[in-house]
Amino acid sequence: MTIGSMLYEGKAKKVFATDKPDQVVQYFKDDATAFNAQKRGTILEKGVINNKISERLFVLLEQAGVPTHFIKRLSDRELLTKKVAIVPVEVVVRNVVAGSLAKRLGLKEGDPIEPAIVEWYYKNDGLGDPLIADEHIRLMQLATPEQMAEIKRLALKVNGVLQPFFRERQMILVDFKLEFGLHNGQLILADEISPDPCRFWDQTTKESMDKDRFRKDLGKIEEAYQEVLKRVCG
Ligand code: UDP
Repeated sequence: MTIGSMLYEGKAKKVFATDKPDQVVQYFKDDATAFNAQKRGTILEKGVINNKISERLFVLLEQAGVPTHFIKRLSDRELLTKKVAIVPVEVVVRNVVAGSLAKRLGLKEGDPIEPAIVEWYYKNDGLGDPLIADEHIRLMQLATPEQMAEIKRLALKVNGVLQPFFRERQMILVDFKLEFGLHNGQLILADEISPDPCRFWDQTTKESMDKDRFRKDLGKIEEAYQEVLKRVCG
């Protein structure tokens, strides 16, 4: 495997070309951002941890029949993936009220959401990733209605696999953000699944074990990421 030029640098990852046109390498950085990159910092070893957690969860999801971009983990910080054209819609699945949902609608943080809900956000940093409806996706031609129906089905399937997985590890899967992409015309799950785009609460203490520790300056950030790694991969 030869790694080629950098195709893209995001807030937490870099993407590199490979000698195969339909495969890329995701390189996981320790950089952390929050509030649309207004807050910046470093979480020691985050890249290594998120890479390993993503590998474990992508394997789990593939086994359950969810198509993903995962091919294999190449090293501590490198994941070999299928190259996709990302659908510019961030897909958020919620099982418990938290974050922007609590703020926007005045709902009580910690209240259960049953059945889980799925929301769309327009992936656009300049606009601050606004909440959008199906009609806006159609208006801007971000994806077809058929593609969005398939994305919703897959997002709920991911939730159906991950919720019990985390429950068995004494964690509550509060909410998470997914990104999907097109590979040879097929919609597949892309990006990462880690304590960065997910909220996990310890089942007993209800303490955050995710990027909220960074967002809210709760301390013990590295320890929380290490603990998630231990429970997911240990
Ligand atoms: N999320 C994310 N990237 C974003 C916005 C949200 O990964 O740009 C994740 C976030 O970590 C949480 C879920 O999506 O697990 C729901 O986030 P929310 O809408 O509550 O927004 P936040 O409180 O993060 O502003």
